[in-house]
Amino acid sequence: MVLFAFVMAAKAEINIEKCKGCYYCIDVCPAGAIVRSGLSNSKGYDYVEVDRSKCTGCQRCYIVCPDCCFTIVSDSMVKNNK
Ligand code: SF4
Ligand code: SF4
Repeated sequence: MVLFAFVMAAKAEINIEKCKGCYYCIDVCPAGAIVRSGLSNSKGYDYVEVDRSKCTGCQRCYIVCPDCCFTIVSDSMVKNNK
């Protein structure tokens, strides 16, 4: 039950400055929580945003992103940069 509570509480956060706009994360997100921002970061890449209200914390974006942009955050644990 403790693990279940962790999974439900976890959310993805993104470092937009690492994003290169490949959009792999949009394709794998089962919740439709990742969208194109329509904006560019300081390197000129069009980055994505996470709608935390839709995110289930499944970690698929964290696994697929080739640039390690995502952090999965819960009240009790932070996972970052594979
Ligand atoms: S997979 Fe990573 S680099 Fe590609 S769009 Fe998503 S956050 Fe950006
Ligand atoms: S953790 Fe899962 S639900 Fe949340 S943004 Fe990433 S892929 Fe989507």
